[in-house]
Amino acid sequence: MAELVVAVPPLLRADQAEQRYNEAVQAAVEKCAADTAGQTCFICMDGAAAEGLVRGCACRGGAGYAHLSCLARQAQVEVERDAQNGWKRWDTCGLCEQKYHGVVACALGWACWKTYVGRPERDVIRSMAIMQLGNGLASAGRHEGALSVMEAELAMRRRLGESEQNILIVKNNLANSYCKLGRSEQAVDMYRDVYHGFVKFNGEEDRNTLMVAENYATSLLALKRFKEAKSLLRKTMPVARRVLGEGHEFTLGMRWNYARALYKAGATLDDLREAVTTLEEAERTAQQVLGGSHPLTRGIESELQNARAALRASALSSKATEDTCSRLREEIARLKAENAALRERRTRRRLG
Ligand SMILES: [Zn+2]
Ligand SMILES: [Zn+2]
Repeated sequence: MAELVVAVPPLLRADQAEQRYNEAVQAAVEKCAADTAGQTCFICMDGAAAEGLVRGCACRGGAGYAHLSCLARQAQVEVERDAQNGWKRWDTCGLCEQKYHGVVACALGWACWKTYVGRPERDVIRSMAIMQLGNGLASAGRHEGALSVMEAELAMRRRLGESEQNILIVKNNLANSYCKLGRSEQAVDMYRDVYHGFVKFNGEEDRNTLMVAENYATSLLALKRFKEAKSLLRKTMPVARRVLGEGHEFTLGMRWNYARALYKAGATLDDLREAVTTLEEAERTAQQVLGGSHPLTRGIESELQNARAALRASALSSKATEDTCSRLREEIARLKAENAALRERRTRRRLG
């Protein structure tokens, strides 16, 4: 019987992992160069090594500068010590405990894949490494690449007969890529399935349920389905604030989305005020927790400026309407008085 051969996407070819890792490190070092000049790696304490430094988390001041290879070695050691708890070192900084983003997340994704690509397909760590790579590519905006990696991952996990919960996580990531590539209808459909799947399996307070709720809302907004987004967020945002906390990325993302849903769909003055207040609070929290250079903070900031402009414009136009109304009221009162005076003069003439 002929064996079913599933094509491996070029990005996942084992013989190219090393080269792609090197390219990703170079890209990350170049992108970080202005920020890292004159700094020292907090892991090996060497500032003069040939490999340049990177920083792509929420560390501030002199903290968090490192060689990509040092971050990768640190993650590898943590996983060897305790795979379950150590894994997060592949995507979360050990100093500020925030996720890496952009080119640094991407280079770490390649480092992770390069480290575990040689393991058998059924190995859990290898599957996790594919997911790490897909997410890293997406974080750096390489969505076509991320999509091909995630589609291969979904096919592989289905072939291996993995649990529905694991499949849902991959589908969520896949829907993220659809969303970024402008395939919004596909994204909304997939998010809806995943959201209901997580509610069923894990309940409404589960971290994954809340994560996909935020993504689902984002995709509804992309399709200008503001009412649906608003009602989804009214249900899920208070849960995220309570369960995950104000500073969590999902909570902040939900509040950002909620404000967008509020002020973009024929908003009343009250909606606009609520949008601005929501964004002001989210922006303060994002500044404190994630720092000013984090993409989420920057996104919320620019949304806040838009919402404030919309509020000013709406307040001005409602002030103009008020002025017009009060001018009309004055005019009507004046005409009434004139009429009354006229009637009185006529009456007096008849009587006289
Ligand atoms: Zn180092
Ligand atoms: Zn950090």
